Amino acid sequence: MVKENLTNVRATIPEGVTLVAVSKFHPVEALQEAYDAGQRIFGESRENEFKVKVAALPNDIEWHFIGHLQTNKVKYIAPYVSLIQSIDSERLLDEVERQAVRFESERMARFGNTCIDVLLQLHVAQEETKSGFTPDEVLSLLESVNVSERWPHVRLRGVMGMASFVDDADQWRREFRQIKACHQALLDGPLNKQGISSEQFNILSFGMSDDYKVAIEEGSNMVRIGTSIFGHREY
Ligand SMILES: *Cc1c(COP(=O)(O)O)cnc(C)c1O
Repeated sequence: MVKENLTNVRATIPEGVTLVAVSKFHPVEALQEAYDAGQRIFGESRENEFKVKVAALPNDIEWHFIGHLQTNKVKYIAPYVSLIQSIDSERLLDEVERQAVRFESERMARFGNTCIDVLLQLHVAQEETKSGFTPDEVLSLLESVNVSERWPHVRLRGVMGMASFVDDADQWRREFRQIKACHQALLDGPLNKQGISSEQFNILSFGMSDDYKVAIEEGSNMVRIGTSIFGHREY
């Protein structure tokens, strides 16, 4: 089942778009099935599940953290995480920096590199419950902070966002355009001044099971798909 779903999803994703298989709430066996079908990038949203799955599954998996991350939980994922997609505050960046230093040797052994790659999560949806920076907040943060001095072990790789939970493709499209525009504004403004290039800050992570086709049309190059691969989650 997982294997067929994965094949079907892959057939709809163009080259140059990275597929993150969102495996939260699904058992290790389901991830193993996806792994056996060739999937190597998985997204998890809770640090306790993350730890268990990292320990149980092969070492060549690239683990992304995509859920809301509390500062006191960063230490549990820091040794293993390839990309934290859900950076939503300045404090969280401070903590990622601290934990990257603390787990320097573990990360060097695993990745050959001590920096932690992150995406800035943008809030463009209408729901107040979703987290993330507004475009204005993230622009003013990066105008006011010297990134390489304050977070030398953090590498800003791009932006992540979610569209509103509505059944309206036009609204998704408008919100995805806001994410893309913010990415460009960051590159043209504060990141350019700080010497962070478009080759480094090149990830646009938006699009989930329902809306990823629209997301790709609007310039996403990383989609995070759960339900269409693993089926519905039981919370
Ligand atoms: C759960 C989740 C997804 C995947 O959602 P599906 O609708 O199951 O594809 C993608 N991104 C984030 C941040 C999520 O929490």
